Amino acid sequence: MKNNKITIALAGNPNSGKTSIFNNLTGANQHVGNWPGVTVEKKEGSFFYEGIEFKVIDLPGIYSLSASSIDEKIAREFLIQEKPDVVVSVIDSSNFERNFYLALQLLEMGVNLVLNLNMIDVADKKGININEKVLSLILDVPVVKTIANKNRNTEQLKKAIATAAKKERVSNFEVKYNKEIEEAIKNIISKFPSQNMPANERWLAITLLEGDQYLFNMAKKVYNLTDIENIALPEVNKIEKKYNDDILSIIADNRYGYIKGLVNEILTRKKKIGREISDKIDSVVLNKFLGIPIFLFLIYLTFQIVFTVGSPLVDWIGQFFDWLGNAIAPLLIKIGVSSIVVSFLKDGIIDGVGSVIVFLPNILIMFLLLAFLEDSGYMARAAFVMDKFMHSLGLHGKSFIPMILGFGCNVPAIMATRTLESRKDRILTIMAIPYMSCSARLPIYVLFTSIFFPKHQGLIVFSLYLLGIIIAIFVANSFKILFFKKETAPLIMELPPYRLPQTKSALLQMWLKSKIFLYKAGTIIFFTVIIIWILSSLPVGVEYASKQSWIGQIGTFFAPLLKPAGFGFWQAAVALIFGILAKEVVVGTLGTLFGGAESLSQALPHYFTPLSAYAFLITSLIYVPCIATIGVIKRELNWKWALLSTGTSIFLGWFLAVLIYQIGGLIK
Ligand code: GDP
Ligand code: MG
Repeated sequence: MKNNKITIALAGNPNSGKTSIFNNLTGANQHVGNWPGVTVEKKEGSFFYEGIEFKVIDLPGIYSLSASSIDEKIAREFLIQEKPDVVVSVIDSSNFERNFYLALQLLEMGVNLVLNLNMIDVADKKGININEKVLSLILDVPVVKTIANKNRNTEQLKKAIATAAKKERVSNFEVKYNKEIEEAIKNIISKFPSQNMPANERWLAITLLEGDQYLFNMAKKVYNLTDIENIALPEVNKIEKKYNDDILSIIADNRYGYIKGLVNEILTRKKKIGREISDKIDSVVLNKFLGIPIFLFLIYLTFQIVFTVGSPLVDWIGQFFDWLGNAIAPLLIKIGVSSIVVSFLKDGIIDGVGSVIVFLPNILIMFLLLAFLEDSGYMARAAFVMDKFMHSLGLHGKSFIPMILGFGCNVPAIMATRTLESRKDRILTIMAIPYMSCSARLPIYVLFTSIFFPKHQGLIVFSLYLLGIIIAIFVANSFKILFFKKETAPLIMELPPYRLPQTKSALLQMWLKSKIFLYKAGTIIFFTVIIIWILSSLPVGVEYASKQSWIGQIGTFFAPLLKPAGFGFWQAAVALIFGILAKEVVVGTLGTLFGGAESLSQALPHYFTPLSAYAFLITSLIYVPCIATIGVIKRELNWKWALLSTGTSIFLGWFLAVLIYQIGGLIK
């Protein structure tokens, strides 16, 4: 208190409402000048309260007292040199965490603080409620809520200021830092002379640790601490070495850590009902330990449903096509249709296309369930859950969403990577997607698991999907190490609220996606099946689909390559080669070569063991998804990446099948 006048300073972030508070307090009693030496505006004014005059100074808007900007220097020097009797910390309450950082520094500095929670109306609208009583107790300072632009609660603020001005002692609030910093603070203080030191030695020690030049000079001049650098710097080095970070960040982290804990005590966010339920579900679904198991369980459950519900329907449709083929052939021959045409219709079209169409129920159910997961808001959570994991691999959780879309179809999934900001993330995600098991691969799994693993269909298919994810991440990570070394900044992921999925919308999505499957069956698969039938029937006079046919010769040529994987016979080679057009073709081809879905289940056990069947499934999963995918990679990136992806997947598909088959053989 100088000349019986009480000086108070307003400190706060830009736009916290400082000037509004200043105007409310001082009314017309103000004048504007400049801070000494700089052209930064200095507003001063005054008001009377209970007969005492209070001089008010509006400090420049600042975020911290770290004194890196001119405004920060002005504010800090004023606080240190002028020693105002009261400092009012004006806070935008709707943004408490960020605004409170400055207040925290003011408290550490040991000023006589009044905490002014301004913009309470805005906070209210955001559903933020601050318990000012508890806050005041914790900080040991008066807390006043205001709405400055409406001049609300100005009297209370004046009263709090007047009371604070009379206070004998200031709050002895302290931020507890981590062990190393606390030790450094103690060491520095122990070197201070025992006399003529400021009351807030702790604050001085902290600012010296922060390497504040102004304070170093002051310490030398005012406190005769000529050796201060040699005292503080070794402490700083020790801490920086230990944490491998700069001291300012370490100290700031500690302060934010404190603020986080404080917020937890005094601030509540009211949410709309929907949000509350969302949060409850999220606390389980996004749980650190439960998150990934829940995700895996849901995916597993999906396939379990796909099979338990789908398989009986698949059997019926399969029986229908067999009946159709068997019934139609004699009929056609009876009415004089040539045997070539009959074979074309029965062996080619009905058996080939039919063997793919039978899986429509599985596909429908799978798309329906995926649509439910997506519409409910869970898919975004899955990405969130995987975020940490993905980060450890240099990818973002955001990349996981296009990857999950890959379960449906790789082509739109690759297009969905357009939402990723950085090119690096896009490339790596696109390289990963082809290993996500798309629905076209499902018929192969269904066919083989129903024959070789009838009791564990869901489990085996689950293992394939999981393997796909693992390889996708492995490939992305390898490419990252090979081609991109630099790290990218983290992204914040926002979670949509949960919604009850609309059956109608889910059914619509299911139908739209399944239509693509049917369309493929009607076009690409149809034509490939025709080509395969032709190649199987030539040269003229050869037994249909025999080893001597053209297709048999093509397959025989490649078959030795597949031998180490356990399926070195020509039909498998042919199926895989034509499967490059579209994965469903693998089944269609086998259907054409072995004759229909029913006969497939009798024929395949002669060629495969469960082990080689599993190896075959792995190859089917991993090698080139289809030409459409290669095409879209080329379109989104370029030929180089398209070829690299194709080459990698062919190699991995072959290599892993060999690995599994060989190791499996040893175990037996
Ligand atoms: P300063 O940058 O800290 O000096 O902030 P100002 O006093 O200039 O205020 C910034 C803006 O916030 C102005 O448009 C004010 O009218 C508005 N404002 C100040 N206090 C409040 C408040 O309590 N509630 C609302 N809704 N607006 C406020
Ligand atoms: Mg202002």
